[in-house]
Amino acid sequence: MTKKISVRNPRTGVADYTIEAADAGEIRRAEQRLRAGQAEWAARPVERRIAVLREFKEALIRRRDEIVSRLEADTGRRWVSGLEVDAVVGGIDRACQFAEETFAPAAPAPTPDPEVHAAGDLVAYPLVAVISPWNFPFQLALIDAVPALLAGSAVLLKPSEMTPRFIPALRACVEEIPDLSGVFAVVEGDGSTGAAMIEAADAVCFTGSVQTGRVIAAAAAARFIPAFLELGGKDPAIVTASADVDGAASAILWGSTINSGHSCMSLERVYVDRLVAGAFVETLVAKAERVRLAYPDLADGQIGPIITAAQAETIREHLDDAVAKGARVRTGGSIEILGGGTYLRPTVLTEVDHTMRVMCEETFGPIIPVMAFDGADEAVALANDTDFGLSAAVFAGTADEALSIAHRLEVGAVSVNDACLTGMVPAVEKNSFKLSGLGASRMGPPSVRRFLRRRALLVRDAAGPRPWYYDGASSQTEER
Ligand code: NAD
Repeated sequence: MTKKISVRNPRTGVADYTIEAADAGEIRRAEQRLRAGQAEWAARPVERRIAVLREFKEALIRRRDEIVSRLEADTGRRWVSGLEVDAVVGGIDRACQFAEETFAPAAPAPTPDPEVHAAGDLVAYPLVAVISPWNFPFQLALIDAVPALLAGSAVLLKPSEMTPRFIPALRACVEEIPDLSGVFAVVEGDGSTGAAMIEAADAVCFTGSVQTGRVIAAAAAARFIPAFLELGGKDPAIVTASADVDGAASAILWGSTINSGHSCMSLERVYVDRLVAGAFVETLVAKAERVRLAYPDLADGQIGPIITAAQAETIREHLDDAVAKGARVRTGGSIEILGGGTYLRPTVLTEVDHTMRVMCEETFGPIIPVMAFDGADEAVALANDTDFGLSAAVFAGTADEALSIAHRLEVGAVSVNDACLTGMVPAVEKNSFKLSGLGASRMGPPSVRRFLRRRALLVRDAAGPRPWYYDGASSQTEER
């Protein structure tokens, strides 16, 4: 019997939507269909795949309002839902350019033997499984799918079961384009559907928690297929004594609380030079108190609901643990139930330390714990005292001072004198360090290249002399 999954509305708390999880049989059928279409798709010149993806972009633009309103219901966010669709549209153009560059004719590679000529083929993984999370449901569903399609792979996508309302609109866009629907399928389901997808695929792209990432890495390893993993974070911000305190407070407030803190690159820990810590906290609290909940009108206010009940529980646990261990709540701090949704105002904590969960585990909520440091060495040591290594931010009086700290941080991206710049500059290559991920960059040109294997074609000139034992003429070997 098909498994039905009820979906909670984050603004009302009511389960008002249902999906049916694709089972292993459905995944196998989708796999067969996609594999049947993929060979012809990959054999096309890249320009023809680009043309199809551009048609897809136009279909998304035509259905923008419908997608945005479905994302609003999924996430309780209006402004960000529009941004998600626009980011995907811009991302398609960028990926098309990377695909063009990837497939551009390359100069022949030099070889040590003038009689041997080297060339190469690019061979796409036939079927890529993409499994995505709930925090940016639309953007993270397509961030890997689009480059994989451009590379020549077929894609089987499963968005999160927490935020699936946009799936019918996305499918409608795919189905408008017969060339695309043969190689791109979107299924609904939970972890069991995701697990079946890994059994079917030749490569897997996963965005989600470290916990699930470990399970996926093990399943992919058992099948000897690559897993591109983009996982959680506990991003630090460092504010030195020379920084513009007001500017740093504004950026950190935004970077910690945008999307209710539901962003992998949210700033989740703040380290401030003791010389300016008092002024920083005072400024941060004043600014935090001006940020409003997007309730009752979701178009008015900045902080939407906590999207899942489980995340609200984690946030509550981290707050309770911190307070029990001596943290001081400077503003915010109580989870509110409004109209059935769960909200938390920007919450600033001081007197925190690394024994607290809020300083070590991913909170994924609008909490800003602030800790003082003495000197750059201590700031770096505190920032690196974590299992995560996604990104970070450094605020200092000069870019040189900030960069001298940035070079010492064990993370894949550092924003200097701003927060979360990786979200705004997606064309720049970056890797995730430590438990935050594994595999080639999904930003920049590798976003397409990582789905391609290179087959070397090494051709010996038929007319030239042959080495080694050919024709029994061992003297040729000596002449060489
Ligand atoms: P999650 O790990 O709970 O679920 C993610 C996806 O995995 C869902 O689609 C889920 O159905 C699927 N899944 C669960 N178990 C599975 C299994 N055994 N096999 C296959 N698929 C399975 O994560 P989430 O709570 O949806 O997302 C939040 C997490 O994602 C946070 O940790 C956040 O930091 C991370 N994230 C990382 C990035 C990044 O780029 N590094 C971006 C966004 C979110």
